[in-house]
Amino acid sequence: MGWRRLGLGVRGVPKGQKVKKVPLRICVGCQEVKPKKELIRVVRSPEGELLVDPTGKKAGRGAYICPSVECLEKALKGKQLERSLKVAIPPELADSLRTAIQTLPGGALTKVGQKRGGGNGRPS
Ligand SMILES: [Zn+2]
Repeated sequence: MGWRRLGLGVRGVPKGQKVKKVPLRICVGCQEVKPKKELIRVVRSPEGELLVDPTGKKAGRGAYICPSVECLEKALKGKQLERSLKVAIPPELADSLRTAIQTLPGGALTKVGQKRGGGNGRPS
């Protein structure tokens, strides 16, 4: 009794107010720390394939990158992506990654998956 030192340990964190803990990750391209949600996870599958993983749930070694081709290019050029995934990235793989990022609907991040907008660029 009486030995509790107030002020060092649990300092009045209001219970009702949850401090939002946003998991942060570093983009392998621009090296900026961003909320995980704003980044794309690139996964190296056990088969050695590189996949873009919008759900963040795939098994494998992952790296995070902004959903921008710029960052991808940077990460490729600087070999950051190779280094964090511990895999060599041949040009065709880099290419499909690029395509994947370019074609990622903004919805992949915001989860607007329900909308079927049509308009696939098909001329009528
Ligand atoms: Zn970035």
